[in-house]
Amino acid sequence: MPEAFLLTLGCPKNEADSDAFAGCLTGAGWGISRNIENTDLLLLNTCAFIQPAVDESLDAIEQALEWKNNKPGRILVLAGCLPGRYPDDGSGGLEDFDLIIGPGDTSHLEEYLSLTSASIPEPAGGRISRYLKISEGCSNNCAYCTIPLIRGARRDRSPQEILIDAEHIAEQGAVEIGIVGQDTASWKYGGDSITRLITQLAGTYPDIWFRLYYIHPAFYPDDFLPLLAEHDNVMPYIDMPVQHVSDRILKRMGRPYTGDHLRKLFDEFENFEKMLSVRTTLIAGYPGETEDDFSELVQFLSQYRCIRTIAAFPYWSEEGTREFSRVSSEDLPDRSIVQSRLARIGDVADEHNIVWADRLEGRIMDILADTPLLGHSRLDAPGVDGACCFDRSVEPGRIIRCRITGGTGSDLTAEVLK
Ligand code: SF4
Repeated sequence: MPEAFLLTLGCPKNEADSDAFAGCLTGAGWGISRNIENTDLLLLNTCAFIQPAVDESLDAIEQALEWKNNKPGRILVLAGCLPGRYPDDGSGGLEDFDLIIGPGDTSHLEEYLSLTSASIPEPAGGRISRYLKISEGCSNNCAYCTIPLIRGARRDRSPQEILIDAEHIAEQGAVEIGIVGQDTASWKYGGDSITRLITQLAGTYPDIWFRLYYIHPAFYPDDFLPLLAEHDNVMPYIDMPVQHVSDRILKRMGRPYTGDHLRKLFDEFENFEKMLSVRTTLIAGYPGETEDDFSELVQFLSQYRCIRTIAAFPYWSEEGTREFSRVSSEDLPDRSIVQSRLARIGDVADEHNIVWADRLEGRIMDILADTPLLGHSRLDAPGVDGACCFDRSVEPGRIIRCRITGGTGSDLTAEVLK
């Protein structure tokens, strides 16, 4: 059987796309290998939402071309956001690629492989945590963001398609399923809402942990906390990119909510009957951001102890966005100011880590083992948040009852109880 290797860059949404690409490949008789050297086909699934991601993808392309040139007959497929953002016009030196397809574009891969239908394959290495994509694209058009240019307007998948994928993933032994899309909170189909969809998934698979990613604050569903209260297998985890809290900056970003709206939501999270954790992302040094705007952001982040993870990015001026076409150099905070603002946010994140380690020390918690010695708690997403280190080797894929013994940074240490 010929073997293929998939290299995925970027976020969990790309992981979900790679699963679909792998489904096309296995459906066409390819094996999925964990070792790139002995393979005949390499599919490089790229990311390109900001310049550092573009740079990383270009580095990977260079290495992929080297891999292809090392052995005649090797097949190279370029996929994902990079070709989605910069379609090949024949001048980019991409002629060594055998196929170039956009994000999640399984139909062109199927055509290339002469395939008519794909299945979701057993993932290489049997991943314990998998992703389930419920929509593609985004219609929010935030002023700084390239995603709508790359992936197009939001298209929600039907509940039927989603449930079929969930069934495959469950049959393959997933212990956790992350629900992904660019704007999951807005998912709608017929009369169904995102909370109804999760209720159905959580009820059908009571032994699987479900975790919802990318909840846009403007579309946060009011019935989400009651859903968490009712279903123990929906993780008490809010992944909400606030991006900023200053009304002036939010307006300029084209984010349709206010600082007060965020404070109201975070008050609810803080007072929820179960312990829950919030992961948020934000942009520091956005055009026009003053010291007052930034102080308001820091004050907000410091105020809520439910915040467990903060991912802060500097503003990147990306061609094709609304902000790119209107920003002037006077709008941009000085580079050194941006660096110092990012460092201040890093200090707040460190303070949260210390508070969380204190809060969790001595608690009995379930930890999902990702490897014999490392796992993640219900409060932390696998791969992106802190990990938990066991005091002895356990079986990967099992949910282990542990006592938390301490924490360093965002990571925890745990004593295995059974
Ligand atoms: S909601 Fe997210 S993906 Fe959509 S345009 Fe805004 S930042 Fe981009």
